[in-house]
Amino acid sequence: MDVTLQKTLMRYMLESKNDDSFIKKVNKLYTTAGAEVLLTVFKLLAGIDIPSEKCSMHWEKTQIHRQKLSELLDRNVDITTALCDYLQSATRFLSHPRLIEASQYETVIHETINDKLTGLFNRPYFDESFNQQVALAKRYHEDFTILFLDIDNFKEVNDTYGHLAGDAALTEIAAVILKEKRDSDIAARFGGEEFVLLMTHTDNVSAFIFAERLRKQIELLAITYRDQVIKLTVSGGIASFPFNSEDPKQLLQMADSAVYLAKGAGKNTISLFKEEKRRYLRIKIHQPVLAKELDFNNSTTFTGISKDICIGGILFENNAPLPLGALIKVRVPVNGGAPVMLIGTVVRVEDFENGRYDIGMTTSFKEMDKIANNEIAGILRLGNVAY
Ligand code: GH3
Ligand code: MG
Ligand code: MG
Repeated sequence: MDVTLQKTLMRYMLESKNDDSFIKKVNKLYTTAGAEVLLTVFKLLAGIDIPSEKCSMHWEKTQIHRQKLSELLDRNVDITTALCDYLQSATRFLSHPRLIEASQYETVIHETINDKLTGLFNRPYFDESFNQQVALAKRYHEDFTILFLDIDNFKEVNDTYGHLAGDAALTEIAAVILKEKRDSDIAARFGGEEFVLLMTHTDNVSAFIFAERLRKQIELLAITYRDQVIKLTVSGGIASFPFNSEDPKQLLQMADSAVYLAKGAGKNTISLFKEEKRRYLRIKIHQPVLAKELDFNNSTTFTGISKDICIGGILFENNAPLPLGALIKVRVPVNGGAPVMLIGTVVRVEDFENGRYDIGMTTSFKEMDKIANNEIAGILRLGNVAY
């Protein structure tokens, strides 16, 4: 049996909303690819070989039989039941039915939806899940986030260690993604050395924290291939539904363009999608700031030194780490004006191992609305505009 055809038909089964749309797809494929299509359908659904010249007739009769059965039972009879019932009652084919081996069936399904090398889901399966997720999220007003990951300088790995070493590296990185992701996340190999993670019920800030953790894990990974140790990094891009867009195509383009931002920022970086036209002002300014966790049980106030402030957040040096994901407020003094209070989430903690830590905070987008734009403009007027 033609394996490619078998896989295509398995995909049709998985992708079709109902049996009618599966049958429609089969019929369409039959007009272009011929009898082999129907022979494969019979084989897949009933585990049976049918003479090639009769398959069209049996297929048509199966449809009629299905309609009759549906009317008789007053419910929609599925195609497998109809086919088996037809073959059994109207023909001799099933007098010695051959059970399809469950393991064989599972193997075909696995090969249909998974990438052979990495075991992650493949691109067609991802596309299908993604469209379903968009429909679900729209209907139930949920959010989700797309994370694209692209291995940095992967060509060099192939050139230096060989293609097989490259393959081993892809597999190991995929394993890290599988280990770190939640069960409900869909991880797929999007292309050659590109991966995509669909994170359900996740906004961009939580996704960023996760992506940073993943990036670091991959950076720390020592891949061994034939006694050689390969070190790799990845760049990632994030776009969220509905925050960035509600359009599936646009969302993927946004996550992809965020990868380019990350590459442009020196690689081994995760970037949130930013509208290129709307460039935010950013200032590099070193002055004391006061940071405090928004946790009523913890009254510690830290005095840090700001490094970089923009409308999307602040980077400051602190003498203590803050928990990743913590909601904090940072008070930024303004010359001759009232201090500005930035509220957001800790998304990055760099340990310099000298008692100093870089803390990256992304302004919470919900809180963001509450922060008056003129207050932020106040700080931006303070220093040199970096871009
Ligand atoms: P950048 O940091 O800009 O992403 O650089 P790069 O070298 O990773 O970029 P580019 O996209 O140009 O190269 C991707 C390389 O990935 C080229 C291709 O040979 C390699 N590749 C794609 N699929 C596979 C695969 O299945 N196995 C192996 N070993 N290499 C692959
Ligand atoms: Mg690439
Ligand atoms: Mg690459």
